[in-house]
Amino acid sequence: MNDLERGRLRREWRTLEAMIVLYCHGQHGGRRRALCPSCSEFRDYARVRLERCPFGEAKPTCAHCTVHCYRPEPRELARAIMRWAGPKMLLRHPYLAAMHLLVDGRRPAPVLRKRTAPGNAASAP
Ligand code: SF4
Ligand SMILES: [Zn+2]
Repeated sequence: MNDLERGRLRREWRTLEAMIVLYCHGQHGGRRRALCPSCSEFRDYARVRLERCPFGEAKPTCAHCTVHCYRPEPRELARAIMRWAGPKMLLRHPYLAAMHLLVDGRRPAPVLRKRTAPGNAASAP
């Protein structure tokens, strides 16, 4: 489980959460940090995905990911949120937006090692 309270993943989570808040306020009339039920559900889902991201601190942006762990429906919502809130982030959260675009957005997806099934190790020569 990744720790979202420190390091790069903390910033990643802050960025994603800020975009969800902007989107909900603009599209669904949410106020302050309160979100509508569907955006709230998406925020919880996205947080779990980030906590379980197999790339950990080395993760690329989800747009450049080779795994794509989101289910189709939330993935479509994530795209809509990025499209709508992305340009607004530059004005509302310039530091987070700049880091997302200029640093994280250039990070290639690392190659993931295949996990060996527990039983296979015992049968190795
Ligand atoms: S889409 Fe890819 S980068 Fe994003 S959380 Fe899932 S596995 Fe990680
Ligand atoms: Zn909403």
